[in-house]
Amino acid sequence: MEMKSCHTIWECPACRNVTKQFMEVAKRIDLDPNIVNRLQVPDRSVIISIPVRMDNGDVKIFAGYRVQHNDVLGPFKGGIRYHPEVTIGETAALAMLMTWKCALVGLPLGGAKGGVTVDPHELSRHELQHLTRRFTAELVNIIGPEKDIPAPDMGTNEQVMAWLMDTYSQQKGHVVPGVVTGKPLVVGGSQGRSEATGRGVVYTVVKALEKRGSGIGKETTFALHGFGNVGANAAKTIEEMGGTVVAVSTSKGGIYNPSGLNYDDLVACHREHGNFSCFRGGDVVTNEELLALPCDVLIPAAVSGVIHEKNADRVQAKIVAEGANGPMTIEADRILNDKGVFVIPDILANSGGVIVSYFEWVQDLQNFFWEIDEVLMQLKRIITHAFDEVYGIAEREKISMRTAALIKGIRKISDAMLARGLYP
Ligand code: GLU
Repeated sequence: MEMKSCHTIWECPACRNVTKQFMEVAKRIDLDPNIVNRLQVPDRSVIISIPVRMDNGDVKIFAGYRVQHNDVLGPFKGGIRYHPEVTIGETAALAMLMTWKCALVGLPLGGAKGGVTVDPHELSRHELQHLTRRFTAELVNIIGPEKDIPAPDMGTNEQVMAWLMDTYSQQKGHVVPGVVTGKPLVVGGSQGRSEATGRGVVYTVVKALEKRGSGIGKETTFALHGFGNVGANAAKTIEEMGGTVVAVSTSKGGIYNPSGLNYDDLVACHREHGNFSCFRGGDVVTNEELLALPCDVLIPAAVSGVIHEKNADRVQAKIVAEGANGPMTIEADRILNDKGVFVIPDILANSGGVIVSYFEWVQDLQNFFWEIDEVLMQLKRIITHAFDEVYGIAEREKISMRTAALIKGIRKISDAMLARGLYP
């Protein structure tokens, strides 16, 4: 079987990584070669030049993307990322992961991703709003509740989703809450969506601890690489469940205290400075040092590719739960598995976000909203069921959790494609 997607416009390390993963699994499960060819490339990739009038009067052009990988199971679904390193290739890689993720956890949704190459912290609120509205207007014909439903990702938040929803609704002439998930509650968001990814990560870690014969307690130590939506909510959940967070970081660096870090103190410092430079309750560590700290659980919850061939060997954690998408390379994955580290792969560990996005979409379509207890109960049910299934495959076939998760997701997509057949 020939590897296709990465010698074209999608070529980049992230795309090579996910394509390689896909090809390995395709070979292992003897996937139909026609299906392999189809799934290596996304259904649709859109590149948009977005003109934005900046506060100084100049018009600046930003590059924006939406990649729709596969919709055999339902409308495309996936976040929108605002980050200076976003490329069409990375967006395509992340779209492919969304396809496997939704299939793996049993959602009737496909896989997509979007992004704009921009540092959102360098824009004023006004500029950010204009960027989001123009980007949405350019996408209006290819998104929608029955076509493609964006959501937050790195660098975007509830406010950005509210602007997206408003722009789409203005263009349609009526309110369309179901066009996007991760919205504020007041405009049709779901209870529990903002903390869903971080919570879901911890639910999968608890399952992994149980399989290893322990539970979560004060002596269970966690290091969190990243303190955005995923890292911060994971920290909160860990504290609630009685575990101990010993290290956290932002892109500027981190702090470490083997006796534990208090969540409220972390949030207070982070809120004021956007980093932990003001935090006095721990020692300063670099991000590289954080990844190698002695702890039970490491949660990489920031950018992709941070654990690689050169530093994987230094990881001391017994469990690594991928809060971020693609935080380790294939080579690092192999090194960690050989060392006996239990890796919970991204498409399982961070699926809580899209699971509650699915609930939000369902609630928007039905105009009937759930209580938080209902959301959290259903989230836990779906993610722990997916964990058990993946664990079962991994045990039975003596393979890693990642390979098992990919097998389950990819097989489901392939079965659905074969059942539907090729049009025309
Ligand atoms: N951006 C998140 C992810 O990578 C959430 C996607 C969604 O909710 O649609 O899973």
